[in-house]
Amino acid sequence: MALLHVHNLSKRYEKDKQVLSDINMEVGEGQFVSIIGPSGAGKSTFLRCINRMIDSTEGEIYFDDVNVMSLTKKDLRKHRTKIGMIFQHYNLVSRLTVIENVLHGRFGYKSTLQGVLGLFTEDEKLQAFNLLKKLGMEEHAYKRCDQLSGGQKQRVGIARALIQSPKLLLCDEPIASLDPNASKVIMDHLKTISKELNITCIVNLHQVDVAKKYSDRIIGLNSGKVVYDGGSSELRSDA
Ligand code: ADP
Ligand code: ADP
Repeated sequence: MALLHVHNLSKRYEKDKQVLSDINMEVGEGQFVSIIGPSGAGKSTFLRCINRMIDSTEGEIYFDDVNVMSLTKKDLRKHRTKIGMIFQHYNLVSRLTVIENVLHGRFGYKSTLQGVLGLFTEDEKLQAFNLLKKLGMEEHAYKRCDQLSGGQKQRVGIARALIQSPKLLLCDEPIASLDPNASKVIMDHLKTISKELNITCIVNLHQVDVAKKYSDRIIGLNSGKVVYDGGSSELRSDA
């Protein structure tokens, strides 16, 4: 049974603006999938439908045997704890420390700063520290996030996503703001995490060469339609 099934998914933001049309796919556990396509293709909208940050217009999504469209508010919270999000602009709280940002991940998107500052046990702090260590960030654990480079910020973003032990990581242009060296570090970490922890990764990218290097599977999206779905070796770099 695949971890994620998407059937005939469509999304319109306004009446005549079809942003996703009839998307179908199954994604297995531990798979590393890149979604490539030009700006405006609908990549980001697709990821946001999966964790129900937005509602799709038609179709069905099943994740971990649960019908995502019919989740109640309470179940939606549980659903989102199984899905980590990584953003292009990191979405960290700049004036908090690195480790506080990681702990923030345990409360989900609606967490409060009070939670960050008071409510964590030593075990939880140790878990956050160990994740930072895995990502080579332990020496920065007590720095404020606004003192970090972009690549370091993104590693904090990854640790924050991992602290809830997700089954799926949705990464929306995780390297679009980074230089080639930092991009490589981030992609290497994502790949290692996916393999070691058996976490499924769906990564929006616009560089075909990066997608080819790291992915088990590439999905090409253009004007809201799947135009390619297959292995990386069959896809030409100039496609
Ligand atoms: P990509 O991630 O591939 O760049 P997006 O999913 O961000 O594509 O956007 C796809 C299309 O949907 C674009 O034309 C964008 O302007 C439009 N769009 C995205 N978000 C919204 C929104 N909240 N309301 C209306 N249109 C939107
Ligand atoms: P990106 O290049 O990262 O996809 P965009 O500039 O397309 O960023 O979108 C930034 C934000 O604006 C997103 O949250 C998206 O949902 C929203 N957005 C994009 N296009 C529109 C639109 N036409 N109408 C309303 N919101 C939009």
